Amino acid sequence: MADDKIYISVILPLRLEWEPCYSYTPGISCFPGTIKGEETEAAAEDTETVRRGDRVRVSFAGREYVGTVDETGILPQTAPDKIKEIISVEREMARVTEEELALWKQVAEYYMCTVGEVCKAAYPAGKISGEKKLAAMQQREAERRNKKMSLLQEKLAKLREKLPKEGKIREKIAAAEAELQKLQGLMPEEGNPVPMPDDRIMLSPAQDEALMKIKEAFRKGIPALLKGVTGSGKTEIYTRLACECIRKGQNVLYMVPEIALGRQLEMRLQEVFGARLMAFHSGETMARRRDTADRVRTADGYIVLGTRSSIFLPHHNLGLIIVDEEHDSSYKQDSPAPRYNGRDTAVMLAGIHGCDIVLGSATPSLESLYNCMSGKYAIAELKERYHHAEDAEIEIIDTIAERKKNGMRGSLSIKLIEHISETLEEGGQVMLFRARRSFSPAVQCVECGFIPKCPHCNVSLSLHKSRNGATPERLVCHSCGYSTPFGGKCPECEGEMKGLGAGTQKIEEEVSALFPSARIARLDSDTAQSAVYSKDIVRKFSKGETDILIGTQMVTKGFDFPNLRLVAVLQADTLLGIQDFRADEKAAQLLEQFRGRCGRREKRGLFVIQTSSPEHPVYRIIAGNEKIEETSLLAERKQFSYPPFSRVINIEIRDTSEQRAMLMSTKLCGILESGHTPYALTGPFSPSVDKAADNYIRIIRLNLRKDRQLVSTKRRIMNAINEFEAAEKYSGHIVIDVDPV
Ligand code: ADP
Ligand code: ZN
Repeated sequence: MADDKIYISVILPLRLEWEPCYSYTPGISCFPGTIKGEETEAAAEDTETVRRGDRVRVSFAGREYVGTVDETGILPQTAPDKIKEIISVEREMARVTEEELALWKQVAEYYMCTVGEVCKAAYPAGKISGEKKLAAMQQREAERRNKKMSLLQEKLAKLREKLPKEGKIREKIAAAEAELQKLQGLMPEEGNPVPMPDDRIMLSPAQDEALMKIKEAFRKGIPALLKGVTGSGKTEIYTRLACECIRKGQNVLYMVPEIALGRQLEMRLQEVFGARLMAFHSGETMARRRDTADRVRTADGYIVLGTRSSIFLPHHNLGLIIVDEEHDSSYKQDSPAPRYNGRDTAVMLAGIHGCDIVLGSATPSLESLYNCMSGKYAIAELKERYHHAEDAEIEIIDTIAERKKNGMRGSLSIKLIEHISETLEEGGQVMLFRARRSFSPAVQCVECGFIPKCPHCNVSLSLHKSRNGATPERLVCHSCGYSTPFGGKCPECEGEMKGLGAGTQKIEEEVSALFPSARIARLDSDTAQSAVYSKDIVRKFSKGETDILIGTQMVTKGFDFPNLRLVAVLQADTLLGIQDFRADEKAAQLLEQFRGRCGRREKRGLFVIQTSSPEHPVYRIIAGNEKIEETSLLAERKQFSYPPFSRVINIEIRDTSEQRAMLMSTKLCGILESGHTPYALTGPFSPSVDKAADNYIRIIRLNLRKDRQLVSTKRRIMNAINEFEAAEKYSGHIVIDVDPV
């Protein structure tokens, strides 16, 4: 009997560097509840074999897991009698497709984590255990349908080669076409009419040209980058491409960095795609996400609108991927592994499916621009807004100069106050942006200069006032959420404590005092505790029920406020960075997004920036005097060999003991530095926040040359770290971050 055994390798949802081997004896139906009444060949065959992608229940280190079969028919590396038999084949669960497996492996290799960790991200526990028989049945049904479809397509192609003028053949073609459409679910009576955007809108000549360039890139098989200011009509182009794709019977993935505030887009797409549109993001319930996953697995002609995790849905027959706001750092997953970037992973996914991909942004990342410059991507540009509204006028106010002239009133300059008054008098709306929430970002003792910091993180505590005096004032850590009552006295010397600087809460107070009759609202993560409430704030502002909206980054995302005339950024300096090489790029992107927010359609808007360093190159980019790719930003990156001129891998060491963090990171550094290395090493150094959640952090930064050796270099680094962890018994402290943002 032992000869009948098949040996298989299994991917377990764990941080495991290898795939354990199990045996399986064919012919035994491991799953007692095999779907009855399904006596097709496929079903019979299914119950007797185990195939790549099948889900199997196995025991590993004393626990049971549901894993995924990787290779079958392998030669066992250990004595066969030591190899465990699998417990069961979970036939009620849908099989993992070749494309999914390929993506898992590619992501694991690129982001230096295990395939199991990727698998866990793709199939969170709840998703696996809850899957229904139905899914497997539907999958088989879909497989059968796909087979039929490709047969039909072949038949059609042959028919068309003949003489289509002949009546009989024409009839046959028509019949085959109808059947094919029915199989694709594209018949109107199915309740999902084929989207017809062509009748709805006409593209402008500029849009037509951009569309042509994108299609040219697709023909060449390279990604297209669509660069266009907010309101230039990018979404219309995406919609057009998506419709064309669905009409061919293929599927579409439309990615956005965050969905919470992207509802406007969802509604807009709903109009065109109806029931074909599925939203997918982490804010949805597990059950909903599971439903979506099941539909994606079996449906044809779908369009998923989702955040980065929608990459791991069981996509098939994918024709197009759209990555909107491609520059957005929310595409990057911080934790846990895989620490992937949704944009770059989408490019991998497109490669696996051989499908088209378009990245879009008003302010593309330097990485993507660089890829265009080197010919890896093709660029299409939309230079004007669709409604021909002029770009907002820009005014940069030097706060240091104003202060000297007695031109400041708290956080606002008199110049800005005058602009606000004028705008309100004309019935326009105002948005004020400040990068820090809270009343004061920090407090300090006026006597001894003491600044309280979080006991768990090396971050100064922010002062939060209660609005109505119901709760006392508190000091809050914005890194970990730690909070403590604030009595106003210094814990060191009993001196008086004063707030340093102004956060959104204080600005709201100042603005309320300056404009007592204006209707003012604030949107930051303090006021937006619930999604419903934040939506309400946004809704009121877009309906004109609020005059002034004060907020943090949250206000930048995806709204269209037709009556917004004035946008002002207060203390823009906090956006410019010293520590982070990407900070200036991010600042330019953020400011550009703000500019795009004001003065849409009829009236020209005004964009005010208050800063203490008006000479900074970022402002020259915003003023339109320089392209970002032509500025010192890119030159600096080259000089210091930062991305896009190299690849960065951060190795983070976290330890509750500062001494051990230092010792271990220095040791690891020594190992990584020894011999001839294909990378430059910096560190170990302390990041700006060098303690988080009671862990001391040290970073080793590797700059890798961009060449073909990337994969082998990464393997080498990975091996060195694994060996170090084993030798020092130091697992669980090291985090690898590839392409940190
Ligand atoms: P973006 O995605 O670049 O911000 P949108 O696609 O949202 O730009 O377009 C901005 C506005 O112009 C929207 O109100 C959109 O409906 C309108 N618009 C864009 N292209 C067209 C078109 N070809 N015909 C009619 N309206 C259009
Ligand atoms: Zn903290």
